[in-house]
Amino acid sequence: MSTLPNKKIEKILVEALLLTKDGVGLFDLGDRLIFCNDLFGELFGLSASEALNKTFTELCFGCFNTNKGANIEADDFETWISNALLKRRSSNYRTFETDTVEGKHFIVTEQIAQEDFLYVYITDITEKKKNELRLKLMSQELEELATTDYLTGIRNRRYFYQMARAEFNRSKRKSTTLSLLILDLDKFKLINDNYGHKAGDIILQTVTQTISKLLRNYDIFARIGGEEFAILLPSTDAKLAYIIAERVRKSVELIEVTFEDTILTITTSIGMVESSEEITSFDQLVQTADKYLNQVKKQGRNKVLFS
Ligand code: GH3
Ligand code: MG
Ligand code: MG
Repeated sequence: MSTLPNKKIEKILVEALLLTKDGVGLFDLGDRLIFCNDLFGELFGLSASEALNKTFTELCFGCFNTNKGANIEADDFETWISNALLKRRSSNYRTFETDTVEGKHFIVTEQIAQEDFLYVYITDITEKKKNELRLKLMSQELEELATTDYLTGIRNRRYFYQMARAEFNRSKRKSTTLSLLILDLDKFKLINDNYGHKAGDIILQTVTQTISKLLRNYDIFARIGGEEFAILLPSTDAKLAYIIAERVRKSVELIEVTFEDTILTITTSIGMVESSEEITSFDQLVQTADKYLNQVKKQGRNKVLFS
């Protein structure tokens, strides 16, 4: 296997192991650490010379006691170590992830060698973990941005159609009743025309805040168009939905926005629908609510109409 004398090979290997960027440690039959480099010591919050000659149990107890090195989240050390010892040497080769109180993450690999010596090497994956976390947070932020309406901060049309459709399908499967409200602010164009776009924007924001306060946290509220909103009310029949819709309508009617010394008011028309046997798709649910919304507009606005 080698062209050099064994002693020479051993010397080279030991030097390589001490220099490697990974942590390496060797435990003897009594689970006492008989060889390690400094990075391996870090796993136990110690330097290599401090860690040497201690048993695995002593090393872990040190971590538990001083709150350094391996993160031992347990109230009772005895129970924790007996569980750890059950797994240790349970197979010839074992690999797992662990972290330290200092915030480092390692992949630990245990290999049984020469009957019952345990060779352990650890790879520092702290940077990789940090990058993973950063990416996860970034993708959460992107998802949040992609589903949020920039002006009002509530959910946008895209989110609404995705989530409300899923909720509709769920309610079909579970045979529960839900209701949908579609709102369109009345004569909103006049606000823009008379007071400017900024005034219109403030009205939209105020309406949104007012309605948000009236809803339950599982209701899905979104801005689905310029001055159009949708509210999906899960597990809500028409009787309760009507009470909620009326509460929304009246609260909007009471809004007063002071804009450049003028008090602006607004009203909303609401089309409402309750899911039923006849409504077989989400699109049909939306169309039905839209139909009643159009009727309210024809009848003079500021009203709730439903099937
Ligand atoms: P109706 O009662 O029949 O609904 O009349 P309306 O004036 O509300 O309806 P219309 O659809 O004619 O006007 C909607 C207006 O909403 C037109 C558009 O300029 C305005 N709008 C849409 N999005 C925004 C926005 O983000 N900010 C502001 N300020 N206005 C917007
Ligand atoms: Mg409209
Ligand atoms: Mg309108």
